[in-house]
Amino acid sequence: MSSNLLLEIYKRLRQDGGDQKWWPGDTPFEVMVGAILTQNTAWTNVEKAINNLKLAKVLHPKKLDRAPLAQLRVWLKPSGFFNIKTKRLKHFLDFFKSRYQFSVEKMKRVDAIALRHELLLVNGIGKETADSILLYALGKKIFVVDAYTRRIFSRHNLIEKDLPYDDIRNWFEKQLPAAQEIYNDYHAQIVRIGKDYCRKNPDCGRCPLEFLFHK
Ligand code: SF4
Repeated sequence: MSSNLLLEIYKRLRQDGGDQKWWPGDTPFEVMVGAILTQNTAWTNVEKAINNLKLAKVLHPKKLDRAPLAQLRVWLKPSGFFNIKTKRLKHFLDFFKSRYQFSVEKMKRVDAIALRHELLLVNGIGKETADSILLYALGKKIFVVDAYTRRIFSRHNLIEKDLPYDDIRNWFEKQLPAAQEIYNDYHAQIVRIGKDYCRKNPDCGRCPLEFLFHK
C-alpha cells in the first residue's frame, strides 16, 4: 500500500466531516471515566451516566473514590453492565490513587508505552480503553483501534480482519506522522464513518471512502 494512502483517507474524511473535536469531555478525568464506561455501549448511555455524576457533583477522583459502591452503581446504571463497570471504575480509581495520587500531571510525565503497560495491568482495562485514556485524556501519541477500524479497513482489504490489535495500531502509527492531533481526529473520523455508513449493511454509495474501491 502506498504510504500516503492513510493520509489521503484522512484528508477525505476531514473534508467530509470537519474536525470532530474529540474527545467529548470537560476534563482529562472525565475522559478517563468515559473511556471506561463506553465499553460495549452506545455513547448516549455513557453521557447519561456522566450527567448523573455531574449532577451529583462527584466527577472528581477523590469524591468518586469516597462514594459508596451502591451509590456508584445507581449513578452508572444508564451505561449498561453497570455492576461490571462500577468494579472497573473502582479498580481504576485504586490504581490512580495508589500510583499517581490522583494527579493527571504525574501520569502525563510517564512515558506512553510504560504507562500503557501499567494501565493494562488494571483489572478490566483492555487495550482500546487504555489507548483511549492515553491519547484523549493524556495527549500521548498512541493510535486507538476499535471494531470500526477493523471493519472499515478490512472491508477495503487494507488489513486482515483478524489482525491482532497491536498489529493494527502499529500499522497506523508507522504510516502516519507521529502527531497527537492526527491520531486524535483520525480515530474520531473512523467512528463517525462506522456509525453513519459502514454498518452491518454498508452504505457505500454515500460514504466518503467509496473512492477506495476504485484505487
Ligand atoms: S461504507 Fe463502504 S465505502 Fe464506506 S467504509 Fe464501509 S465499505 Fe468502505
